Amino acid sequence: MHGITLQDIYAAKSRISPPVRHTPLIPSPYLSELTGRDVRLKLETMQDIGAFKLRGAVNKILSLSDEERACGVIAVSTGNHGRGVAYAAKRLGIKAVICMSHLVPKNKVDGIKALGAEVVLSGRSQDDAEVEAAKLIKEHGYVEVHPFDDHHVIAGQGTAGIEILEDMPELDTAIIPLSGGGLFAGIALALKASNPDIKLVGVTMERGPAMIDSIAAGKPVPVEEFPSLADSLGGGIGLDNKLSFKLCRDLIDESVLVSEEEIAEGMRTLYREDRIVAEGGASVGVAALLQKRVKSSGDHVALLISGRNVDMDKHAKIIAGGMPELE
Ligand SMILES: *Cc1c(COP(=O)(O)O)cnc(C)c1O
Repeated sequence: MHGITLQDIYAAKSRISPPVRHTPLIPSPYLSELTGRDVRLKLETMQDIGAFKLRGAVNKILSLSDEERACGVIAVSTGNHGRGVAYAAKRLGIKAVICMSHLVPKNKVDGIKALGAEVVLSGRSQDDAEVEAAKLIKEHGYVEVHPFDDHHVIAGQGTAGIEILEDMPELDTAIIPLSGGGLFAGIALALKASNPDIKLVGVTMERGPAMIDSIAAGKPVPVEEFPSLADSLGGGIGLDNKLSFKLCRDLIDESVLVSEEEIAEGMRTLYREDRIVAEGGASVGVAALLQKRVKSSGDHVALLISGRNVDMDKHAKIIAGGMPELE
């Protein structure tokens, strides 16, 4: 058993606010018209670090003992998790070290440094960064804050699910970006525990869908990493995955994969129709709806817009109809 309960998610909710914000759930007239459903956008772009990752990071750090806090925390991150951990650690006055691969876009690295954390770059993949982190943990005794495979992180991400249901009790379908599955697992737990009939749709990019491949294989499998507009969905789920794999496998009703061009069109649509700046990883759900690839037939749909941390030049190029070079 995973042992994460609805009570854990409610406890997280009262623990993390502030600094975590109850973000708005706003109607999208364009997507509603297009699909004939009531489609609303959950704007995690409006958290302080510009992404939902603050929820899990704050919940984890506030759950540490005094001794653990004294050691400081370390995280392996493709960007937004690092921002969440750095921000939370700074607010609590503890040291944070963030490890990531050289593939992570520069704006994300700079953003984390600006939040006061120490950044360590190594290798070309999340796995390389993990090896480096393990070494630093041994040497310095830091406490690892995992980006998705952690009880407190999953419970923290799940608080977004409680908020959606508070704002939209008639909800019957939630569409959620999927990578390591902490966000999906937390929200799915919160929603299914409240109403088992709610359908959960996980969306990710064709280029390296680690969780979907793993569910198909029946166990966590490695994934080849490619540059993608959805860089925040990159990386594997960990071959020794303990929590998020089983939760996603058991709670997912439908999965959708989207191409790079479809992700770009999702970003354009969010900007053109709703005036929202969203990063690639946050636009996959919009992409899935635009392509009419969501089969679940619900009328009341929440679409999680998970973050806004995209390089502005890259964003401008996409909005203008182009495709940027991928890093
Ligand atoms: C981390 C992240 C995701 C995916 O979350 P997981 O818990 O790894 O599935 C989606 N969107 C954005 C913007 C992210 O930063």
